[in-house]
Amino acid sequence: MIERIKELEKISRLLSPSPEQKENWNAQVLQYSANFLKNIEQDKAYYHSEEKGKGIYKFDISEEPTEIDSLIKAVEGNIDRVGINPASGGYLGYIPGGGIYPSALGDYMAAVSNRYAGVFYAAPGAVRLENMLLRWMCRLMGFPENSAGNLTSGGSIANLIAIVTAREAQNLKARDFERAVIYLSEQAHHSIQKAIRIAGLSEAVLRYVPMDENLKISANELEKTIIDDRKKGLIPFFIIASVGTTNTGAVDPINDIADIAEKYGLWFHIDAAYGGFFKLVPQMRDKFVGVERADSIILDPHKSLFLPFGTGAVLIKQKEALLEVHHYLADYMQDTRAENEEISPADISPELTKHFRGMRLWLPLKLFGLKPFRAALEEKIYLARYFHREIQKIEGFEVGPAPQLSVSMFRYIPAKGDANSFNKKLLEDIQKDGRIFLSSTSINGVFWIRVAVLVYRAHLAQIQLLLEILKRKKDSSGL
Ligand SMILES: *Cc1c(COP(=O)(O)O)cnc(C)c1O
Repeated sequence: MIERIKELEKISRLLSPSPEQKENWNAQVLQYSANFLKNIEQDKAYYHSEEKGKGIYKFDISEEPTEIDSLIKAVEGNIDRVGINPASGGYLGYIPGGGIYPSALGDYMAAVSNRYAGVFYAAPGAVRLENMLLRWMCRLMGFPENSAGNLTSGGSIANLIAIVTAREAQNLKARDFERAVIYLSEQAHHSIQKAIRIAGLSEAVLRYVPMDENLKISANELEKTIIDDRKKGLIPFFIIASVGTTNTGAVDPINDIADIAEKYGLWFHIDAAYGGFFKLVPQMRDKFVGVERADSIILDPHKSLFLPFGTGAVLIKQKEALLEVHHYLADYMQDTRAENEEISPADISPELTKHFRGMRLWLPLKLFGLKPFRAALEEKIYLARYFHREIQKIEGFEVGPAPQLSVSMFRYIPAKGDANSFNKKLLEDIQKDGRIFLSSTSINGVFWIRVAVLVYRAHLAQIQLLLEILKRKKDSSGL
């Protein structure tokens, strides 16, 4: 047996590469990232490709090792230069993400040390760091000291945690589900409907509250509906408002909705996945009046803090409610019981073992300080407004509501023919060009093209380029 163990050890030690091996890999990966970043501001925001990355199948898992240079080439050819390039400053579609560089270093550090960040007992320092970040977010949103939060993989899971917590905190049982009412607007993000279903609440009544002309929830209508539902013997229990809808960046009337939630005893949830960190910009403060009155808020650092994808956050005011739902102590976890100086992420989320996400957030925030984040967010607000103003100067273009945060909508009204199909074609042309990537939406059957300014690399040059492209497309279409 000893012979076999030694034989196996020789092979298994390949998993701990030599210093030379590591140096070679490090150098090649750093070279890859340098190449990727060298021309990023000019690189395309969208790559058309017939193959759509099929070449990656040649790199299926095999018994023998592969050299790193061929793997990097495979990534460059099949992954990086195919489809949307969210790292590009020209990426103005959907809700853009980011990819600030120090986050990559934070991920690297977290992966090398592999701290067990799910449980305080195992990695007290790591848990303190993550909880410190969450307390900062709670302070930013005006939540009290006693609130708690969790760093999630994104906004969808954050919404799910909030909904499940609300379901339990409001003491809803399966027999109540058919009578439970959830209030939201048609502009709410689809991850909410998804979370409602996953939370077992698909039988609950979804009330789409009428909106005003700026696509915000009408607080009056909301109250009327709740009164009406109560009369019918239903159980109004959950209101979702958005600070920044995905479609148009509309901010619902938070303080008025908070009044109603309080008056009728509903759980008030705010989806601030897109807009939350705009609170860092002083001139935006009025949009956030009343956020501190919510029961739960979700934020997406991988949107408005420019992190690479994979980081969301949920904040819950009633810490106990969060624990109540997610806490569990298995026999084999009994050693972890004693210390509760900090809440363990495992006790307030569906996850046990988890990525040490805090590092990718903490490192950039500390290395840069908050100042450039505030400036970048304010810059994006102005860029969206600038676009909104300038596009109206080109004849034939029409705009949606004035951007509340950093999303603007526009469409071209052709002299003849169907406007929707014209704009669809216009969008396809922009995507084919590839220097700027935009996406579209439909509101009441009208096709709108959206400009969502949130990539930290998007500056004045990208907006001017977009205006120039649109002007040229319009001129060449002969309309
Ligand atoms: C992006 C987004 C979500 C979903 O978040 P993911 O991080 O993509 O899971 C939820 N709500 C809003 C308003 C969003 O913009």
